[in-house]
Amino acid sequence: MISYALDRESLEEIAEAALERPSDAMFYDDRLFTTHGAVLHWAERGDNLLEESNYLTALDLIRSAADDGRTDTEVSDAHVIDGSAGHWLVGSLRTIYVQVYEDDAIRCRDCDEIAAWAVSRKKHGRRRFLCDSHKDTWDWETERHGLRALPPIEYRPRFTAAFKQAGEIVTALEGYPILDESDYSEREHERFESNLNEALSDAQREYEYDSEAQTADIAERAHEELGELYGQHADGAVAWDAVAAIYRDARNAYFAELANAHLNAPIAGQLALIAA
Ligand SMILES: [Zn+2]
Repeated sequence: MISYALDRESLEEIAEAALERPSDAMFYDDRLFTTHGAVLHWAERGDNLLEESNYLTALDLIRSAADDGRTDTEVSDAHVIDGSAGHWLVGSLRTIYVQVYEDDAIRCRDCDEIAAWAVSRKKHGRRRFLCDSHKDTWDWETERHGLRALPPIEYRPRFTAAFKQAGEIVTALEGYPILDESDYSEREHERFESNLNEALSDAQREYEYDSEAQTADIAERAHEELGELYGQHADGAVAWDAVAAIYRDARNAYFAELANAHLNAPIAGQLALIAA
């Protein structure tokens, strides 16, 4: 669990940014940018392992925060959306949407926004909940008509546990780019191994007449040096020409040794001569 104990003001800022609807997109779900705000993205088919690790770690943390103290996932299923949408640039974009306010949050009487004020014209009069801009209108009318009113009270709807956790994650990522070091390095290592195997198979294809046993021996001999390639490129990438060069050297050394062993071996009959 990421714990930053953000104050109300910081959470409100994050909420505002998360609920800001992009102007150039269509949305497949009415909840997006109305009750649920976008907090994190991942270009799924890209190679960015850090983005992948942060996204999946955050998704876990946010869902756990929503379900904290429960045995079912009813709350996280409702409050957290792991959205996926086609994107013209990156192919497929995953986005975590989180319900910002609790279900009982009151909306503005005059529009659909979450209310920010409770106002009342006279003592014991009916209380109305208004958003910031409709409260301005109300102020203006009250003054224009010289009506008596009680001082407006700020209304503060409760944030969901999921959104608080999301806000903490967003803030944590501003300070340090990796949410979970061990998750990230595990993914990086896995990616490296798979890239290396692919590059190695390609290097071995050059020497199709080597026997299977020879190929295995040469790979074994190259193993340590190939391992040193880890961490040289971002996202577990491997330079194929470097792998090919290491394999070629290991192969040359292997056959040189084999040849030497043959040259130094006693020639058949020789021992018999010595013994005679
Ligand atoms: Zn309003």
